[in-house]
Amino acid sequence: MLGRLGDVAVVGLGRSGGAASRLLLREGASVYGSDAGRSEALDAEAASLRALGARVDLGGHDLELIGRASLVIVSPGVPPDAPAVATARARGIPIWAEAELGLRALGDSVPYVAITGTNGKTTTTALAAHLLGTAGRRAIAAGNIGTPLCEIALADRRPEVMAVELSSFQLHDMPTVRPTVGILTNLAPDHLDRYPSLEAYYRDKMALFANADGRSLWVLNADDPESLRWTAAVVGGRRTFGLAAPADGHFDRASGWLVIDRVRIARRAGLPLLGDHNAANALAAALAVQAFGVDADAIATGWATVAPLNHRLEPVAERFGVLWINDSKATNVASTEVALRAMDRPFVLLLGGRHKGEPYTKLGPLLGRCRVVIAYGEAGPLVVRDLEGVVPVESGGDFADVLARAKAAAKPGDAVLLSPACSSYDMFQNYEERGRRFRAAVEAM
Ligand code: ADP
Repeated sequence: MLGRLGDVAVVGLGRSGGAASRLLLREGASVYGSDAGRSEALDAEAASLRALGARVDLGGHDLELIGRASLVIVSPGVPPDAPAVATARARGIPIWAEAELGLRALGDSVPYVAITGTNGKTTTTALAAHLLGTAGRRAIAAGNIGTPLCEIALADRRPEVMAVELSSFQLHDMPTVRPTVGILTNLAPDHLDRYPSLEAYYRDKMALFANADGRSLWVLNADDPESLRWTAAVVGGRRTFGLAAPADGHFDRASGWLVIDRVRIARRAGLPLLGDHNAANALAAALAVQAFGVDADAIATGWATVAPLNHRLEPVAERFGVLWINDSKATNVASTEVALRAMDRPFVLLLGGRHKGEPYTKLGPLLGRCRVVIAYGEAGPLVVRDLEGVVPVESGGDFADVLARAKAAAKPGDAVLLSPACSSYDMFQNYEERGRRFRAAVEAM
């Protein structure tokens, strides 16, 4: 399946990199694994890989060794411009995402739905796996969201079908990706800090379609002209979902029903996820799993029993009549726009973190119900510059100060919405830590 692998370098040794290393060792490769970080978990991983015959470095990468590899495997968390990856690219060494290695090892044994797009990947992946599971299929959510593909390839028992979340960074290094069904949730500006242009970012997303043939099926967003434009010439069947435009799957707002091929499948109100965007995600997942024989009853049951995901418009608790909502996963302007559209009461908005390149002015028209924006973190001054005069803006200090200001500003009946439109890396390890700190503070009130 994998052929002769030779000397392989694995960059990043988290769960995905660890699984990739084990898979490579099992296939007879000689493995050099490295990770820029240090932690107890990494120490344990390093010890176990060394015992299997790998050479391992933590706290940095031996670029000489990586530069001599015949293949480099990149973990999903490693940025494409990381020196270890750049070295390999400069020398023309083939680079595969961990997911590429896992999918190659699985061969054609497990069909999969692949999900990419700027926003809604994780939610749609979880929904697709849940709908498949509801229909009695042995399904698994794989990739960033859950189990690394290499881990699935290593296991004795394989799933019948997978829902695989793929980021643009992963797709960049997935030359043979060929999903049974592919979902493109939407295309919007993001990662302008890491890509030279928006075109370059969209081009990476388009790698999903690179190996399309007549049997491929694509699930596309009828409301997103950019997605339709980029996929206009793609080979294969297509199904569309939409809230505004007519589509194969759509939300009929007038009647309150979610409809597929003109058949009412379930009431929107029965889907326990906030916001219109989640109706779109639910429709996209349903259209994809239909290709695996999931029927309308299973879709309706699955929609009714899905749980909100952590850090994604997640209602945390009500305190003194104020609802605190954790949308820490909103790390770009487009996803914060979506959260603002889902708000049906007055709110205090916590906005800031590490700036990613987009202006915040786009949020202005959606702040009609916003009492005050608390701007914080590295992007704080830019938020103030972009929104001052549109809405009251306060500058917050550390996160405790931001939360204290929010508590003081919110009135009973309001919400406090953490939907930062920025990455978290200036103040936190990641968006999960930001969301957990938010939850802990609310629970302690
Ligand atoms: P991803 O995995 O692509 O980052 P998630 O499912 O984790 O997406 O959702 C992240 C954030 O993106 C959510 O908090 C929400 O604000 C926004 N979002 C989710 N689905 C959509 C969608 N279909 N369209 C636009 N924004 C969305």
